[in-house]
Amino acid sequence: DPRLEAISQAIRVVPHFPKKGIMFQDITTLLLDHKAFQDTVDIFVDRYRNMDISVVAGIEARGFMFGPSIALAIGAKFVPLRKPKKLPGKVICEEYELEYGTDCLEMQVDAVQPGDRALIVDDLVATGGTLSAAIRLLERMGAQVVECGCVVGLPEVKVIDT
Ligand code: 5GP
Repeated sequence: DPRLEAISQAIRVVPHFPKKGIMFQDITTLLLDHKAFQDTVDIFVDRYRNMDISVVAGIEARGFMFGPSIALAIGAKFVPLRKPKKLPGKVICEEYELEYGTDCLEMQVDAVQPGDRALIVDDLVATGGTLSAAIRLLERMGAQVVECGCVVGLPEVKVIDT
């Protein structure tokens, strides 16, 4: 796809952020480039518009920057998957591994119904641990996860078993 090169160029790589040794892929510069941002959303929309997706689940926080635009364009609802204690009402929680320790993603139980067909959106996949927790949340509510879509895949990272 000829649009991918410009999208890739629009993502800034910041060495040693948030700590030494990490090459941080900064998608905020992509958001500043209207054409590249639009192309990014369009590529997802082209792929998912005819896949009968009923829910787009976005992962806090950068999944929120792409997910809602995709959801609106393909006619799906948007469901935020959030860090602990941010969502009111009854929630379910799934843990995932961090480099040091664990964290948790939460989803409101009434947001998703059995039979929903889900697309999970985040900005970046590294080990896949975060996406795996997201998949478990949706499947616990009876949704079918059709696919996970991310803007960046880090090829040098070995993806863990889901
Ligand atoms: P994983 O769970 O696949 O190892 O890590 C993916 C999660 O970490 C995503 O939610 C993503 O936002 C965040 N993340 C890890 N490294 C980076 C990075 O270099 N840039 C950005 N934007 N997010 C990152």
